[in-house]
Amino acid sequence: MKQIDLTNLFLPKKIEYTKDEVFDIAIVGAGVVGCAIFKEFSQNGAKTILIEKENDILEGASKGNSALLHTGFDAPEGSLELECVKKGYEEFIKLKDDLNLQILKTSALVVAWNEEQEKKLEDIIQKGFRNGVKELRRIDKNELLKKEPNLSKEARGAILVEGESVIDAWSAPLAYLKEGVRYGGKLVFSHKVEDGEFDGEIWKIKTSRGEIKAKTIINSAGLYGDEVEKIRGGEGFRIIPRKGQFLVYDKSAYDLINSIILPVPTKRTKGVVVTKTAFGNILVGPTAEDQESKTDSSTKKETLQFLQKKAYEIVPKLKEHSVTTVFAGLRPASDETFYRIEYDKEKEWIRVGGIRSTGLTGSLGIAKYIFELYGKSFEKKEPKHDAQKVPNISEFSKRDYEKLGFERIVCHCELVTDREIKNALRGKCGAGTVGGLKRRTRAMMGRCQGFNCMADVVEMIKEAQNETK
Ligand SMILES: Cc1cc2nc3c(=O)[nH]c(=O)nc-3n(C[C@H](O)[C@H](O)[C@H](O)COP(=O)(O)OP(=O)(O)OC[C@H]3O[C@@H](n4cnc5c(N)ncnc54)[C@H](O)[C@@H]3O)c2cc1C
Repeated sequence: MKQIDLTNLFLPKKIEYTKDEVFDIAIVGAGVVGCAIFKEFSQNGAKTILIEKENDILEGASKGNSALLHTGFDAPEGSLELECVKKGYEEFIKLKDDLNLQILKTSALVVAWNEEQEKKLEDIIQKGFRNGVKELRRIDKNELLKKEPNLSKEARGAILVEGESVIDAWSAPLAYLKEGVRYGGKLVFSHKVEDGEFDGEIWKIKTSRGEIKAKTIINSAGLYGDEVEKIRGGEGFRIIPRKGQFLVYDKSAYDLINSIILPVPTKRTKGVVVTKTAFGNILVGPTAEDQESKTDSSTKKETLQFLQKKAYEIVPKLKEHSVTTVFAGLRPASDETFYRIEYDKEKEWIRVGGIRSTGLTGSLGIAKYIFELYGKSFEKKEPKHDAQKVPNISEFSKRDYEKLGFERIVCHCELVTDREIKNALRGKCGAGTVGGLKRRTRAMMGRCQGFNCMADVVEMIKEAQNETK
């Protein structure tokens, strides 16, 4: 069988800056955190540029997570992380209708499986209250099994956390990016930041494809944040990637649970979660494995078997369903357990590091916090056009195939139309990698993992790329 070559399908995206331009703010890294910061500063009138080493957004930690919007009930008390998570949650809810951000308000259940865990529930509730999360209550086994009839009968009781939700973790950052562009922010992809010089007023940032000038640098380079930090001369900050492996169960399993099923957390990790996804699957994971490599996101058979065993212990009926795919994400954890945000005023450099396991929720809050920390204001500009709603690819709302006007379905597993793919491949914020196209449309992400539609999709990519030549 002939293999389809997925490399070099995309040309590097167009360069948007000129040699002499000086930006107020240059943001390094277009993960969810970088995209949210880009939005915040651009909306507030700063002349902003977002610099990314890959040819699309979300190619680092932000491409593979559990996609939960956290309330902060279990975040470290009094921490910056808690503050950003709560603010981020609030901002997400404020923006969701204007930008078409999708949310499934499932609520979560922190389930106790033995006496020891049961004893910890009250403490978790009290901590939640102290964290300002009021919608928390203890439920007994009867109520739990009424809510979740497919949960193992071994469960002893739980805490119901009303606000915990599932979101589409890919379209939200895309919406933040588009908002930044709407307010005049510029984007450069395939530009790896390698070095820089600061003359006391202006940074000359050396990238793999040219020099960019900016008054202030914001380092949101995720897993590579410590390496980028060396440009400033920043000491004492090391990223220790923490891998999280996942199983994605088939769509047939989707109705087995109603809420996000959380374990009683340990000091180190939130533990293995069973949750619905925005795309109609059940997700089981993640693990928490520290490693040296910033690129190794491979999965391991034994770990996946461990996850499968856990999944069966929690929801025994999962045994009747198959696994569609597996993946791993790398958390940009650091050598400390807290968010590592710091503003070096002398060097005009803001580090946004160590945003490990809550960055999807916290991103909009982090962006607001940093803007305040920065403390300068800009003259606000009128946006070029109204806010753009991102296309819905979740199961929570009407999909493109349910609307008139498309020619054909290209990906039959995920019901992706030709129109969706064509649109996702075009424009300033269009896909720049195969992964980016998947994240914008779900094409090739279903049961057959692209076996049936990949050749067709590749032709569509080539056609779109030819137009840009
Ligand atoms: C397994 C797992 C589960 C998670 N679950 C959740 C969850 O349910 N809810 C939640 O809120 N959060 C969750 N998270 C956390 C969340 O995904 C992260 O906090 C977030 O993705 C971090 O984003 P970031 O923008 O800081 O980093 P990244 O996404 O890594 O972005 C950094 C970007 O910088 C770019 N870059 C790096 N070096 C350079 C350079 N030299 N020049 C230019 N660009 C560069 C990279 O290519 C990358 O695109 C989870 C994370 C993982 C891994």
